[in-house]
Amino acid sequence: MQKITIMLIVLCTSVLTLSAQKTKKEVLKSLNQKSETYGEISQEIWNLAEMGYQEVKSSALLQKTLEEAGFTIETGVAGIPTAFIAEYGSGSPIVAIMGEYDALPGLSQEAVAEKKSAGGAAGHACGHHLFGTASTAAAIATKDWMVANNKQGTIRFYGTPAEEGGSGKVYMVRAGLFDDVDIALHWHPGAQNASNVGAALANKSAKFRFHGFSAHAAAAPEQGRSALDGVEAMNMMVNMMREHVPSDARIHYVITSGGKAPNVVPDFAEVYYYARHAKRDVVIDIFDRIVKAAEGAALGTGTTMDYEMIGGTHELLPNLTLQKVMFDNLTEVGGFDYTTEEREFADKIAKSLGKDQADISVAQNIQPYKTEAKPGGSTDVGDVSFTVPTVGMSAATWVPGTPAHSWQAVAAGGTSIGKKGMMVAAKTLTLTAIDIFSDKKLVDAAKAEFQEKRGADFKYIPLLGDREPALDYRK
Ligand SMILES: [Zn+2]
Repeated sequence: MQKITIMLIVLCTSVLTLSAQKTKKEVLKSLNQKSETYGEISQEIWNLAEMGYQEVKSSALLQKTLEEAGFTIETGVAGIPTAFIAEYGSGSPIVAIMGEYDALPGLSQEAVAEKKSAGGAAGHACGHHLFGTASTAAAIATKDWMVANNKQGTIRFYGTPAEEGGSGKVYMVRAGLFDDVDIALHWHPGAQNASNVGAALANKSAKFRFHGFSAHAAAAPEQGRSALDGVEAMNMMVNMMREHVPSDARIHYVITSGGKAPNVVPDFAEVYYYARHAKRDVVIDIFDRIVKAAEGAALGTGTTMDYEMIGGTHELLPNLTLQKVMFDNLTEVGGFDYTTEEREFADKIAKSLGKDQADISVAQNIQPYKTEAKPGGSTDVGDVSFTVPTVGMSAATWVPGTPAHSWQAVAAGGTSIGKKGMMVAAKTLTLTAIDIFSDKKLVDAAKAEFQEKRGADFKYIPLLGDREPALDYRK
């Protein structure tokens, strides 16, 4: 009797496993069938190339796609017209998939293997047109799986604008929009397929504005006070400060306004600063010292100074529990092949990057699993990762070897290479969401790791303070 029961259990379990396997396979198949539709959506957003907080049409297109798939849309969230949440289902777990869609200024580029402006003001040099579209595809595929399997829970797509310098997600976190979320998923376009622990530098950025008095620079210089002097004195002090900050800190600036004519003492000048480090406490300290330099510069040059916080993001809090699950799913999905035409395009791009040939095997394969990473840039996903267990990956949407924020990245993102890479991400996010909805223990383990890593006395303080979203930062 006992033997029969055990056999039955074994049989049932294997049948269940088989049907679950089949379902995952079906999900992947349906994503393959829809890849052309999603390719068209990504192409439209690539063509639009709207910059941070100006992504009106790109945001509307993703909203329409999700609404038609049965999601409820809440738009204009956190005081940002182009931010939205699309939701399906009810109750827990609540899984969030983030999607970006902002382009970068000055990087207009055609989808060809030579530097050629498309005539626009901006270009998708970070692949966010693919990011938003693949995440949309994953949210819809997860929803379809939930319906087919009668699963409890909520799937949400977070439309997160202005990642590039606008800190869009920070306002959404600050508004409490992630507070009830159990797990958050994201990905990023890149030059390889990888689900490794990510790292990002915490970042504080601000525009420092100096005000002086105009005067004829030759006839009455004594009556003038140069705002540009204020900027230059500040920069000099900050440049001296570099020796007395941790050596892995990053401080960079551009002078965004420095006067109009040499014979007019400038009454206005502006400098735009970033301070970054792997630990936000270090960033906060460095930023405070930069402010002191600005105050000192104003005092010494007889000008006045005010500053506007522009952005502020946390570093990334990794979650190994989720990372490994995502890695296994990425391995299951696998990379992709290039056609002859794509190879020719890739080799030309590789040549423009000083290489003989593109290493296509990078797109075909998955990078080995790593649990450590060196931070390079910053991302507003950092703030999400300190609010809810968060996991991400990258897919080879660019020709291997291509750096982000380059014309080569814009070009590949407008071709079938970008679209193929995007579907690797869409599939992996979907499989990972399915795992989360299927396994409560996984959610619990991810949360336990999150709580431990974040620390018991953690309190979320946005690095950009209480400012309103900088909706005009690209104007
Ligand atoms: Zn990006």
